[in-house]
Amino acid sequence: MTKILIIEDDKTVMASARDLLEAEGYDVSTAENGRRGVEMARQVRPDLIICDVMMPEVDGHHVLMALRELSETNAIPFIFLTAKADKSDIRQGMKLGADDYLTKPYTRMDLLDAISSRLAKQNTLNQHFNSQLRQVEARLHYALYYDTLTGLPNRLLFRDQFLKALPAQSPADWVVAVVYLSLDRYNQISNNLGPEYANLLLKAVAGRLKETLGEQASISRLQTDEFALVLSGSSVTLNLAQTCQSILVNLAQPYNFDQLEVYTTASLGIGFYPDDGSELEGLLDNARVSMLQARKQGGNKFEFYQPSYSTRSIDLVKLETGLRHALERNELEVYYQPQVSIQHGNIVGAEALLRWKHPERGYISPAIFIPLIEETALIHEIGDWVLKTACSKVKSWQEAGLPPIHIAVNVSSHQIYHPNFLSNVSRIVQETGLPLQNLELELTESALLHEVVTANAVLRRLRAVGIQIAIDDFGTGYSSLSYLKQFPFDTLKIDRLFIQNIGQDPESSAITLATIQMAHSLNLKVIAEGVETESELDFLRKHDCDEIQGYYFSRPLPEGEFEKLLASSKRLDNVEATVNTFDNPSPATV
Ligand code: C2E
Ligand code: MG
Ligand code: MG
Repeated sequence: MTKILIIEDDKTVMASARDLLEAEGYDVSTAENGRRGVEMARQVRPDLIICDVMMPEVDGHHVLMALRELSETNAIPFIFLTAKADKSDIRQGMKLGADDYLTKPYTRMDLLDAISSRLAKQNTLNQHFNSQLRQVEARLHYALYYDTLTGLPNRLLFRDQFLKALPAQSPADWVVAVVYLSLDRYNQISNNLGPEYANLLLKAVAGRLKETLGEQASISRLQTDEFALVLSGSSVTLNLAQTCQSILVNLAQPYNFDQLEVYTTASLGIGFYPDDGSELEGLLDNARVSMLQARKQGGNKFEFYQPSYSTRSIDLVKLETGLRHALERNELEVYYQPQVSIQHGNIVGAEALLRWKHPERGYISPAIFIPLIEETALIHEIGDWVLKTACSKVKSWQEAGLPPIHIAVNVSSHQIYHPNFLSNVSRIVQETGLPLQNLELELTESALLHEVVTANAVLRRLRAVGIQIAIDDFGTGYSSLSYLKQFPFDTLKIDRLFIQNIGQDPESSAITLATIQMAHSLNLKVIAEGVETESELDFLRKHDCDEIQGYYFSRPLPEGEFEKLLASSKRLDNVEATVNTFDNPSPATV
């Protein structure tokens, strides 16, 4: 029932108005003065107030002022009732926020019309307000449960969808699976394309997933390039392998944006409920681990979860978390391994090798933690740090009057394709004051092959400013002569794999020999990596290899030890005298 409050000090006027309105079916309350009127309004929350202007103590204008200041009463329609139909009085009341004015004496129709038109207006306002409220609510709901870029459900809604997919009982032939999907090399693609096209790619991927899966799966975007799917159905009809295969095929088709053709592939990991996790979080973790396994095997693949993945992966997740803090906690160090001229016997350079001393586990092998860094954006920060540390150290050795050397720094593929790579390198080197020609960057063949054209352009610009480029681990990648020729290298590093077999394996000797000759014909300097014995050195010397690096001369050393080595008279021809003088941590494996 519509509630009306009448505030009026004249008892006769009050009684007649109340009778009239009650007869019309309104729920009427009354207050005989202004103060009481304000109290009643707060208690009763009427739908409309009729109030006399002229009252002793608190008059109608003050009642209105008081009500408009209170949030619970400020929107109640308010009609003044007065004998004083003076225009300025009316204006004052309207200014204060009255909705209408009735002068006494009024007719029944005057009163009822004023009330009903006010209530109708209020009703429209309420409806408008409610619909706005619903829109805001819908927006909030969307923001809370959906990913704004792709329009897909987010992690929160995914949880609901997962729970809905679970069967009430557990029928023997009902399957619920969670698939974790991540794009291969997304960071790199996104660095190359820039954020605008990277977003277009993510949207297109979402579109293709919907297109491939239709109604048979709930799809959600968890973060950046990571998506999750729930698939459920009877074990007879649900063919997960086939579904995953069609996802892979569909996602691998080229994406066309304006003039640009982009390729990507995905890795998928699959976990089953409840065997691989009875809670969503655990299930997702296991599906993710399986996805990482698929990626490790080259990507564009799917893998079903196997319990053996977990022990290793929990370890890796812990390590990854530790790595995020390693830099700020000073757990990272750069070691230096000398590179020695075979012809002259002296140290001519050093390779900077990153070391991580884990607070509990001691030294962790770079073979384990470098790929972890590369999976995240940390590679840029840490890569820059290695470069800066190594360059400033070598500069300080130069200034201390030690024999001049060049420094070789390893660079991962993720770094060279980053748009700021060139400017970062030149800025860092300049800040340290090291002459650019004393710096060599080491890249592996596989790093260059992702984007041959881009890589080539980057290398040429580095060389144009005087930085040297080395091809690292030569022989373990795609190693083709024609491709070697198109890149502007200065140095070729023969991988340890060939060197360690030189004595026993005629094939390794033949490859090493051919590599040295071929490199020389391309005017490249040749360094043999991982030289451990005198006989390996003899072979290399005989075949004109330029430099060696390896335990035979020295292990990688912490900066202080390396400095001493540089200051010492150690040379290739007096190795025995000083061999193994320095302690060196041997990295733990996980
Ligand atoms: P790499 O660039 O080929 O470095 C040479 C590796 O061979 C080093 O392993 C070095 O300690 C090891 N080594 C040197 N001489 C001998 C030897 O006579 N015998 C044996 N058995 N090993 C020898 P390390 O330090 O474990 O590094 C492994 C890889 O990690 C490096 O291979 C490089 O690819 C990567 N890495 C190291 N530091 C960095 C870095 O700062 N940035 C990047 N992106 N990668 C790095
Ligand atoms: Mg290297
Ligand atoms: Mg190497």
